Amino acid sequence: MRVGIPRSLLYYKYLPFWKTFLASVGLEVETSPMTNRKILADGVKVAENELCVPVKAFYGHCLALRDRVDALFVPRVVSMEERAYTCPKFLGLPDMIAAVAERLGLPPLLTPHLNQREKPSEFKWQLINFARDEFGIDRLDAVAALESAKLAQRQFQDGLAGGRTPLDLLPQSRLNRPRRRKAAGPSKRIGLLGHPYNIYDGYITQNLIARLEEIGAELVVPEMTDHHALMNAATDVPKQLYWTYEKEIMGAINLWTEKRQVDGVIYVLAFACGPDSLIQVLIEHRARTYNVPLMSLTIDEHSGEAGLVTRIEAFTDMLMRKRREHGNVEAVA
Ligand code: SF4
Repeated sequence: MRVGIPRSLLYYKYLPFWKTFLASVGLEVETSPMTNRKILADGVKVAENELCVPVKAFYGHCLALRDRVDALFVPRVVSMEERAYTCPKFLGLPDMIAAVAERLGLPPLLTPHLNQREKPSEFKWQLINFARDEFGIDRLDAVAALESAKLAQRQFQDGLAGGRTPLDLLPQSRLNRPRRRKAAGPSKRIGLLGHPYNIYDGYITQNLIARLEEIGAELVVPEMTDHHALMNAATDVPKQLYWTYEKEIMGAINLWTEKRQVDGVIYVLAFACGPDSLIQVLIEHRARTYNVPLMSLTIDEHSGEAGLVTRIEAFTDMLMRKRREHGNVEAVA
Protein backbone atom coordinates (compact mmCIF):
# COMPACT_ATOMS: atom_id res chain seq x y z
CA MET A 1 0.00 0.00 0.00
CA ARG A 2 1.28 3.45 -0.87
CA VAL A 3 0.56 6.23 1.64
CA GLY A 4 0.85 9.94 0.93
CA ILE A 5 2.07 12.49 3.46
CA PRO A 6 1.09 16.04 2.47
CA ARG A 7 4.02 18.48 2.64
CA SER A 8 2.37 20.96 4.96
CA LEU A 9 1.61 21.60 8.66
CA LEU A 10 3.22 18.92 10.86
CA TYR A 11 5.32 17.65 7.96
CA TYR A 12 7.99 20.21 8.86
CA LYS A 13 8.21 18.98 12.43
CA TYR A 14 7.52 15.26 12.36
CA LEU A 15 8.24 13.92 8.87
CA PRO A 16 11.16 11.71 10.04
CA PHE A 17 8.94 10.13 12.68
CA TRP A 18 5.94 9.47 10.45
CA LYS A 19 7.84 8.40 7.40
CA THR A 20 9.89 5.90 9.40
CA PHE A 21 6.90 4.57 11.32
CA LEU A 22 4.79 4.01 8.22
CA ALA A 23 7.69 2.49 6.27
CA SER A 24 8.52 0.24 9.22
CA VAL A 25 5.03 -1.24 9.24
CA GLY A 26 5.53 -2.14 5.59
CA LEU A 27 3.99 0.78 3.68
CA GLU A 28 5.44 2.73 0.80
CA VAL A 29 5.54 6.41 1.66
CA GLU A 30 5.25 9.24 -0.81
CA THR A 31 5.34 12.94 0.02
CA SER A 32 3.83 15.71 -2.08
CA PRO A 33 6.19 18.13 -3.90
CA MET A 34 7.14 21.52 -2.51
CA THR A 35 4.29 24.00 -2.51
CA ASN A 36 4.00 25.71 -5.88
CA ARG A 37 1.56 28.01 -7.62
CA LYS A 38 -0.76 25.18 -8.69
CA ILE A 39 -0.78 23.42 -5.32
CA LEU A 40 -1.67 26.60 -3.48
CA ALA A 41 -4.23 27.69 -6.09
CA ASP A 42 -5.90 24.25 -5.96
CA GLY A 43 -6.04 24.41 -2.17
CA VAL A 44 -7.45 27.94 -2.15
CA LYS A 45 -10.16 26.88 -4.59
CA VAL A 46 -11.54 24.10 -2.38
CA ALA A 47 -10.79 25.31 1.17
CA GLU A 48 -13.06 27.57 3.20
CA ASN A 49 -12.12 31.16 2.57
CA GLU A 50 -11.52 32.08 6.22
CA LEU A 51 -8.85 29.41 6.78
CA CYS A 52 -5.18 30.32 7.18
CA VAL A 53 -2.85 29.87 4.20
CA PRO A 54 -1.00 26.73 5.46
CA VAL A 55 -4.28 24.86 5.87
CA LYS A 56 -5.35 25.97 2.39
CA ALA A 57 -2.01 24.68 1.14
CA PHE A 58 -2.69 21.37 2.91
CA TYR A 59 -5.77 20.84 0.73
CA GLY A 60 -3.64 21.48 -2.34
CA HIS A 61 -1.05 18.94 -1.18
CA CYS A 62 -3.78 16.31 -0.72
CA LEU A 63 -4.86 16.97 -4.29
CA ALA A 64 -1.27 16.72 -5.52
CA LEU A 65 -1.08 13.20 -4.05
CA ARG A 66 -4.55 12.12 -5.19
CA ASP A 67 -3.54 9.98 -8.16
CA ARG A 68 -0.26 8.72 -6.75
CA VAL A 69 -1.24 7.00 -3.51
CA ASP A 70 -3.75 4.53 -2.09
CA ALA A 71 -4.36 6.49 1.11
CA LEU A 72 -3.64 9.90 2.58
CA PHE A 73 -2.15 10.33 6.02
CA VAL A 74 -4.14 13.02 7.86
CA PRO A 75 -3.72 12.46 11.61
CA ARG A 76 -5.96 14.12 14.17
CA VAL A 77 -3.30 15.61 16.43
CA VAL A 78 -4.99 16.91 19.54
CA SER A 79 -1.94 17.34 21.71
CA MET A 80 1.78 16.76 21.24
CA GLU A 81 2.70 16.93 24.92
CA GLU A 82 1.33 17.06 28.44
CA ARG A 83 -0.86 20.05 29.34
CA ALA A 84 -0.80 21.58 25.87
CA TYR A 85 -2.96 21.50 22.76
CA THR A 86 -2.39 21.97 19.07
CA CYS A 87 -4.33 24.61 17.18
CA PRO A 88 -8.03 23.69 16.72
CA LYS A 89 -7.39 23.45 12.95
CA PHE A 90 -5.19 20.42 13.59
CA LEU A 91 -7.96 18.77 15.57
CA GLY A 92 -10.45 19.31 12.79
CA LEU A 93 -8.16 18.59 9.87
CA PRO A 94 -9.39 15.03 9.13
CA ASP A 95 -13.01 16.27 9.20
CA MET A 96 -12.25 19.21 6.93
CA ILE A 97 -10.51 16.99 4.38
CA ALA A 98 -13.14 14.23 4.71
CA ALA A 99 -15.87 16.79 3.94
CA VAL A 100 -14.44 17.37 0.45
CA ALA A 101 -12.83 13.96 -0.15
CA GLU A 102 -15.61 12.40 -2.17
CA ARG A 103 -16.19 15.47 -4.32
CA LEU A 104 -12.46 15.73 -5.05
CA GLY A 105 -11.95 12.01 -5.58
CA LEU A 106 -9.36 11.75 -2.79
CA PRO A 107 -8.20 8.28 -1.69
CA PRO A 108 -9.22 6.99 1.77
CA LEU A 109 -7.83 8.90 4.76
CA LEU A 110 -5.73 7.44 7.54
CA THR A 111 -6.60 9.48 10.60
CA PRO A 112 -4.99 8.19 13.83
CA HIS A 113 -6.20 10.08 16.87
CA LEU A 114 -3.15 11.32 18.79
CA ASN A 115 -3.51 12.95 22.15
CA GLN A 116 -0.77 13.24 24.76
CA ARG A 117 -2.39 15.90 26.88
CA GLU A 118 -3.38 13.78 29.86
CA LYS A 119 -0.88 10.95 29.61
CA PRO A 120 2.06 11.09 27.18
CA SER A 121 2.42 7.29 27.55
CA GLU A 122 -0.93 6.91 25.75
CA PHE A 123 0.77 7.92 22.51
CA LYS A 124 2.41 4.51 22.26
CA TRP A 125 -0.94 2.72 22.55
CA GLN A 126 -2.63 5.07 20.12
CA LEU A 127 -0.02 4.12 17.52
CA ILE A 128 -0.09 0.42 18.31
CA ASN A 129 -3.87 0.38 17.95
CA PHE A 130 -3.68 2.41 14.74
CA ALA A 131 -1.18 -0.07 13.21
CA ARG A 132 -3.33 -3.02 14.32
CA ASP A 133 -6.68 -1.64 13.17
CA GLU A 134 -5.53 -0.25 9.83
CA PHE A 135 -2.85 -2.71 8.72
CA GLY A 136 -3.20 -5.79 10.95
CA ILE A 137 0.27 -5.27 12.47
CA ASP A 138 0.89 -7.12 15.72
CA ARG A 139 2.02 -5.38 18.85
CA LEU A 140 5.70 -6.35 18.76
CA ASP A 141 6.13 -5.16 15.20
CA ALA A 142 4.34 -1.91 15.97
CA VAL A 143 6.61 -1.30 18.99
CA ALA A 144 9.68 -1.96 16.82
CA ALA A 145 8.36 0.53 14.23
CA LEU A 146 7.76 3.07 16.98
CA GLU A 147 11.33 2.71 18.26
CA SER A 148 12.76 3.17 14.75
CA ALA A 149 10.56 6.23 14.27
CA LYS A 150 11.71 7.75 17.55
CA LEU A 151 15.32 7.23 16.57
CA ALA A 152 14.80 8.93 13.20
CA GLN A 153 13.10 11.87 14.92
CA ARG A 154 15.89 12.13 17.48
CA GLN A 155 18.51 12.27 14.72
CA PHE A 156 16.52 15.02 13.01
CA GLN A 157 16.29 16.99 16.25
CA ASP A 158 19.99 16.55 16.95
CA GLY A 159 20.68 18.03 13.51
CA LEU A 160 18.48 21.02 14.37
CA ALA A 161 20.15 21.49 17.74
CA GLY A 162 23.48 21.47 15.88
CA GLY A 163 22.47 24.62 13.99
CA ARG A 164 20.81 23.22 10.86
CA THR A 165 17.26 24.03 9.80
CA PRO A 166 14.49 21.74 8.49
CA LEU A 167 15.36 23.08 5.03
CA ASP A 168 18.78 21.46 5.34
CA LEU A 169 17.51 18.20 6.79
CA LEU A 170 14.20 17.38 5.12
CA PRO A 171 14.24 16.01 1.56
CA GLN A 172 13.90 18.54 -1.26
CA SER A 173 12.73 21.36 0.92
CA ARG A 174 14.57 24.33 -0.49
CA LEU A 175 12.82 26.37 -3.13
CA ASN A 176 16.00 28.28 -3.89
CA ARG A 177 19.57 28.54 -2.77
CA PRO A 178 20.82 32.06 -2.03
CA ARG A 179 21.84 33.63 -5.33
CA ARG A 180 24.58 35.90 -4.02
CA ARG A 181 27.43 35.27 -1.67
CA LYS A 182 27.14 36.56 1.84
CA ALA A 183 27.71 40.28 2.14
CA ALA A 184 31.13 41.35 3.33
CA GLY A 185 31.47 42.72 6.86
CA PRO A 186 29.76 41.66 10.08
CA SER A 187 26.64 39.61 9.56
CA LYS A 188 23.28 40.39 11.10
CA ARG A 189 21.98 37.79 13.48
CA ILE A 190 18.26 37.57 12.91
CA GLY A 191 15.82 35.50 14.95
CA LEU A 192 13.16 34.05 12.67
CA LEU A 193 9.93 33.30 14.50
CA GLY A 194 6.81 31.57 13.25
CA HIS A 195 5.22 28.20 12.68
CA PRO A 196 7.65 25.86 10.89
CA TYR A 197 5.10 25.15 8.14
CA ASN A 198 5.06 28.86 7.38
CA ILE A 199 8.68 29.87 7.65
CA TYR A 200 10.06 26.78 5.87
CA ASP A 201 7.52 26.67 3.07
CA GLY A 202 9.48 28.67 0.51
CA TYR A 203 6.49 29.32 -1.71
CA ILE A 204 4.09 30.74 0.83
CA THR A 205 6.77 32.91 2.47
CA GLN A 206 8.15 34.09 -0.88
CA ASN A 207 11.44 32.34 -0.27
CA LEU A 208 12.13 34.39 2.82
CA ILE A 209 14.99 32.28 4.17
CA ALA A 210 17.03 32.32 0.95
CA ARG A 211 16.50 36.08 0.72
CA LEU A 212 17.78 36.62 4.24
CA GLU A 213 20.79 34.42 3.50
CA GLU A 214 21.48 36.40 0.33
CA ILE A 215 21.87 39.58 2.29
CA GLY A 216 24.23 37.93 4.72
CA ALA A 217 21.89 37.31 7.65
CA GLU A 218 22.82 34.67 10.16
CA LEU A 219 19.57 32.96 11.05
CA VAL A 220 18.55 31.77 14.48
CA VAL A 221 15.34 29.69 14.66
CA PRO A 222 13.48 28.20 17.65
CA GLU A 223 14.31 24.64 16.50
CA MET A 224 17.97 25.27 17.33
CA THR A 225 17.11 25.39 21.03
CA ASP A 226 16.14 22.34 23.06
CA HIS A 227 12.34 21.99 23.31
CA HIS A 228 12.36 21.86 27.14
CA ALA A 229 14.46 25.02 27.35
CA LEU A 230 11.89 26.76 25.13
CA MET A 231 9.02 25.50 27.29
CA ASN A 232 10.69 26.74 30.48
CA ALA A 233 11.37 30.14 28.97
CA ALA A 234 7.75 30.39 27.81
CA THR A 235 6.46 30.47 31.39
CA ASP A 236 7.54 34.10 31.66
CA VAL A 237 4.17 35.39 30.42
CA PRO A 238 1.19 36.72 32.38
CA LYS A 239 -1.10 33.86 31.40
CA GLN A 240 -0.35 30.25 30.57
CA LEU A 241 -0.33 29.50 26.84
CA TYR A 242 -2.19 26.40 25.69
CA TRP A 243 -0.66 25.78 22.30
CA THR A 244 2.66 24.00 21.88
CA TYR A 245 3.78 26.03 18.87
CA GLU A 246 2.98 29.33 20.54
CA LYS A 247 4.89 28.28 23.64
CA GLU A 248 7.91 27.52 21.48
CA ILE A 249 7.69 30.90 19.78
CA MET A 250 7.29 32.74 23.09
CA GLY A 251 10.10 30.74 24.69
CA ALA A 252 12.39 31.57 21.78
CA ILE A 253 11.86 35.32 21.90
CA ASN A 254 12.18 35.33 25.67
CA LEU A 255 15.57 33.59 25.45
CA TRP A 256 16.84 35.62 22.51
CA THR A 257 15.99 38.93 24.09
CA GLU A 258 17.13 38.09 27.60
CA LYS A 259 20.51 36.79 26.44
CA ARG A 260 20.87 39.38 23.67
CA GLN A 261 21.37 36.63 21.12
CA VAL A 262 19.94 38.42 18.09
CA ASP A 263 20.18 41.84 16.44
CA GLY A 264 16.52 41.73 15.46
CA VAL A 265 13.52 39.45 15.08
CA ILE A 266 11.27 38.71 12.12
CA TYR A 267 7.93 37.22 13.11
CA VAL A 268 6.02 35.48 10.32
CA LEU A 269 2.34 35.08 11.08
CA ALA A 270 -0.55 33.82 9.03
CA PHE A 271 -3.53 36.02 8.30
CA ALA A 272 -6.63 34.64 10.10
CA CYS A 273 -4.54 32.68 12.61
CA GLY A 274 -6.11 32.98 16.06
CA PRO A 275 -3.11 31.73 18.11
CA ASP A 276 -0.70 33.97 16.17
CA SER A 277 -2.82 37.06 16.68
CA LEU A 278 -3.00 36.40 20.42
CA ILE A 279 0.72 36.07 20.98
CA GLN A 280 1.63 38.82 18.54
CA VAL A 281 0.83 41.36 21.27
CA LEU A 282 3.07 39.51 23.75
CA ILE A 283 5.92 39.32 21.25
CA GLU A 284 5.70 43.01 20.44
CA HIS A 285 5.68 43.85 24.14
CA ARG A 286 8.72 41.66 24.79
CA ALA A 287 10.70 43.14 21.90
CA ARG A 288 9.85 46.67 23.00
CA THR A 289 10.81 45.99 26.61
CA TYR A 290 14.22 44.66 25.58
CA ASN A 291 14.69 47.21 22.83
CA VAL A 292 15.08 44.55 20.12
CA PRO A 293 13.85 45.56 16.63
CA LEU A 294 10.93 43.45 15.46
CA MET A 295 9.32 43.15 12.04
CA SER A 296 6.04 41.25 11.73
CA LEU A 297 5.21 39.76 8.33
CA THR A 298 1.62 38.66 7.83
CA ILE A 299 1.23 36.13 5.06
CA ASP A 300 -1.71 34.88 3.07
CA GLU A 301 -2.23 33.45 -0.39
CA HIS A 302 -2.00 36.93 -1.92
CA SER A 303 1.37 37.88 -0.40
CA GLY A 304 3.62 39.46 -3.01
CA GLU A 305 7.36 39.20 -3.45
CA ALA A 306 8.30 42.77 -4.30
CA GLY A 307 7.12 44.36 -1.06
CA LEU A 308 8.75 41.63 0.97
CA VAL A 309 12.24 42.23 -0.45
CA THR A 310 12.02 45.96 0.19
CA ARG A 311 10.87 45.43 3.75
CA ILE A 312 13.60 42.90 4.52
CA GLU A 313 16.31 45.15 3.11
CA ALA A 314 15.05 48.17 5.05
CA PHE A 315 14.89 46.11 8.23
CA THR A 316 18.40 44.66 7.91
CA ASP A 317 19.87 48.09 7.03
CA MET A 318 18.29 49.45 10.18
CA LEU A 319 19.79 46.58 12.19
CA MET A 320 23.27 47.36 10.88
CA ARG A 321 22.88 51.03 11.76
CA LYS A 322 21.74 50.12 15.24
CA ARG A 323 24.59 47.69 15.67
CA ARG A 324 27.16 50.34 14.67
CA GLU A 325 25.65 52.76 17.15
CA HIS A 326 25.14 50.39 20.09
CA GLY A 327 27.57 47.50 19.64
CA ASN A 328 27.26 43.78 19.00
CA VAL A 329 24.92 41.16 20.35
CA GLU A 330 26.31 38.46 22.61
CA ALA A 331 27.38 35.14 21.14
CA VAL A 332 24.58 32.58 21.00
CA ALA A 333 24.87 30.34 24.05
S1 SF4 B 1 -1.89 27.84 14.38
FE1 SF4 B 1 -2.60 29.42 12.98
S2 SF4 B 1 -1.44 29.13 11.11
FE2 SF4 B 1 -1.34 27.22 12.29
S3 SF4 B 1 -3.01 25.97 11.56
FE3 SF4 B 1 -3.74 27.08 13.34
S4 SF4 B 1 -4.72 28.90 12.49
FE4 SF4 B 1 -3.41 28.05 10.89
